Amino acid sequence: MKGVVLHGTGGAWHVHCEDGSTVVAALRGRVKHESGIKLAVGDEVMVRRDEGSDWTIAEILPRRSRLARKEPGRARGERVIAANLDQVVVVFALRKPEPHVAMLDRFLVIAEANGIAPRVVINKVDLAGEPEARAMFGVYERIGYPLHITSVRSGAGLDALREALHDRTSVVTGPSGVGKSSLMNALYTGLSLRVGEISASVNKGRHTTVGAYLHPLPGGGFVVDTPGLREVGMWGVPSGELDLCFPEFRALKDACRFADCIHLQEPDCAVRDALAAGTVDRSRYASYQKLREEALVAEEY
Ligand code: GDP
Ligand code: ZN
Repeated sequence: MKGVVLHGTGGAWHVHCEDGSTVVAALRGRVKHESGIKLAVGDEVMVRRDEGSDWTIAEILPRRSRLARKEPGRARGERVIAANLDQVVVVFALRKPEPHVAMLDRFLVIAEANGIAPRVVINKVDLAGEPEARAMFGVYERIGYPLHITSVRSGAGLDALREALHDRTSVVTGPSGVGKSSLMNALYTGLSLRVGEISASVNKGRHTTVGAYLHPLPGGGFVVDTPGLREVGMWGVPSGELDLCFPEFRALKDACRFADCIHLQEPDCAVRDALAAGTVDRSRYASYQKLREEALVAEEY
């Protein structure tokens, strides 16, 4: 039977099966070695019932995607937070707390670097109004990211967001207090979720040991609940590839004079020309500069 890994501790993996049941299955060493994969939530597996009544994972199916961060202090190692994600839903509030776009950009870069489509949610629109939300965050829609302007209080945007989560596997993240839990509970009554938080500090070298959970959504789809997104380091994005994580730069960089242009000082840089012309957003460019500095520092280790 085919299933999806919801959670696991100490070799006991909770697997949500196609027939709707959840079984606890063991992962045998042989399967582990053959697959070469360290099992993570979101992995699709084949489970089998052995003689007696024990379930085992007989096969790990190929991954469509994975959200991973570099293990601190290890050159090649990476820690997979979740497998087979379709999207990263980054939630910020229009007010209370005040939104930090630099932090939003950082999370978009992490999603891009992992090849997972981001989606932006601006909650608490009841505190200031949609025109202000569009003025501040419309840039994200212009560069191609789906933008949801929501309010748990008024109900604005909730149907569209529920639609966007339907039948997909999503990780929902954002700073503390923006309304992530309130949103999930408003979208799916009775589903009580803790959702991962971004802390304000960059926490190098420390890593979370608490595992992630995958929650099945009523009607289809999953939401990942993980504390693993709390550390907002750059996750090993090479400085030279950072421009590829900014879709609006990606579209321009072939027009730069130098193929290895880093869009800072070079003459005939299409990105800086666009910045001067106002088609590249100032705060996005500032985020690029800041994250590039950070990536360079990380590369020294
Ligand atoms: P989380 O930390 O991101 O999970 O945020 P919570 O869901 O715990 O919400 C933090 C606070 O914001 C709570 O007091 C909520 O009642 C409040 N809140 C959540 N959504 C909205 C909203 O759309 N409008 C307003 N005004 N308050 C909200
Ligand atoms: Zn350039």
